[in-house]
Amino acid sequence: MRTMNEMRAGVLSGVGRLEIIEVTRPQISSPQEVLLRIETIGICGSDLHYFRTGRIGDQVVDFPFIIGHEAVAVVKEVGSNKGDLRPGDWVVIDPALSCGRCDQCRAGRSHTCRQLRFLGCPGQRAGCLQDYLVLPRNNCFKINEEESTLGILVEPIAIAIYAHHLAEGVRNKKVIVLGGGPLGLVVAYISRQKGCQWLGVTDKVDARLEGARKVGADWIGNPLDQNIIKEVESINPEQVDIIFECCGQQEALDQAEILLKP
Ligand SMILES: [Zn+2]
Ligand SMILES: [Zn+2]
Repeated sequence: MRTMNEMRAGVLSGVGRLEIIEVTRPQISSPQEVLLRIETIGICGSDLHYFRTGRIGDQVVDFPFIIGHEAVAVVKEVGSNKGDLRPGDWVVIDPALSCGRCDQCRAGRSHTCRQLRFLGCPGQRAGCLQDYLVLPRNNCFKINEEESTLGILVEPIAIAIYAHHLAEGVRNKKVIVLGGGPLGLVVAYISRQKGCQWLGVTDKVDARLEGARKVGADWIGNPLDQNIIKEVESINPEQVDIIFECCGQQEALDQAEILLKP
């Protein structure tokens, strides 16, 4: 039987093996921290990589390891430093923990912190696939309970919104999204909503390209049976204004170099 000090955690115990085990419940150890009860988690593409292959590039899982970095939670306890969080508040979490002291943090770039620790990332910090989690209060963002189900999409969608922020506006621009996975499709959707002039999406999976049509792509291309560069150049002889690389493939970066306006 589980005692008050224990909780369940979903632990990757090997490639393709996820086990629910009992572990010690975390406790608040600094005034800035809050204890959260995890209500919902999202499963990211990266979680699937760790589950199926035990790694992403040089990020190798040292088993056993708790994955997960997308979560909606309820605040159970708050540290002595009273902020605006109260027990019972619903929050979405920011899974990137920064040090607050390095040159990057001091320059307002906490996402490139020299000591960044990302939840559920091998060698950095255990993930949120567990009943309880302690986080700095600054990593918690209040949401309404009624929106708590949708809240699980905040972390991934924030990435797509930030990509658009970096692009500095797509209105009346020609845009290509290379990679039509969940994030690529959100990036494409935002491009259409923000009034881009032309929208192309590429992916090697046809089902994703159908999704791209649904979010308003003018042109879709599968590099397995189409020549992406030739086709895009024939539609846009003067190339395109903005390219979002959303698949992490060298092949796509090489295409982007050719397809982007000088
Ligand atoms: Zn993710
Ligand atoms: Zn830092």
